[in-house]
Amino acid sequence: GDYNQKIDYVFKVVLIGDSAVGKTQLLARFSRNEFSVDSKATIGVEFQTKTLVIDQKTVKAQIWDTAGQERYRAVTSAYYRGAVGAMLVYDMTKRQSFDHMARWLEELRGHADKNIVIMLIGNKCDLGSLRAVPTEDAQEFAERENLFFMETSALESTNVETAFFTILTEIYRII
Ligand code: GDP
Ligand code: MG
Repeated sequence: GDYNQKIDYVFKVVLIGDSAVGKTQLLARFSRNEFSVDSKATIGVEFQTKTLVIDQKTVKAQIWDTAGQERYRAVTSAYYRGAVGAMLVYDMTKRQSFDHMARWLEELRGHADKNIVIMLIGNKCDLGSLRAVPTEDAQEFAERENLFFMETSALESTNVETAFFTILTEIYRII
């Protein structure tokens, strides 16, 4: 558990991306190892924490989830304040959610610290037959924009821990 533990670092990481791409379920999977099929649109500002050990240091990850503010420019600057990491999430079965990544990135870069670590996430890789975004397209975008990139499934728990661990480790490495 979280108590009786000396916390060496607290890292704030924000989740952004269109509605219904799976942000809330990625967070539920990472923080509680849960998944809900009939996930409701998130109401209210919310974050979850998870404590992990990186390089023998105790790191508390504070992961923020958008409060149903996924419309353009609706995410407030308070959401980004103090964030040292961001996950830009699209649904690999919805091309539009990937096409919107450039816009989300611009908004993020307009608000966040310039050293923020950013990871592009193509979620729902369990729905391979419905894929609308080739891996290479996302890789190319990530390389051009200097982002980490991973494909995940919150449903099947594929790469979720790895994605969070990778971004948190990179944050730890550069602080
Ligand atoms: P958010 O609006 O970005 O927070 O999206 P949610 O986490 O609420 O998820 C939206 C819908 O997609 C819900 O019906 C989820 O059950 C579903 N979903 C989320 N992640 C996955 C996934 O990895 N695979 C599949 N097949 N469905 C997912
Ligand atoms: Mg949500």
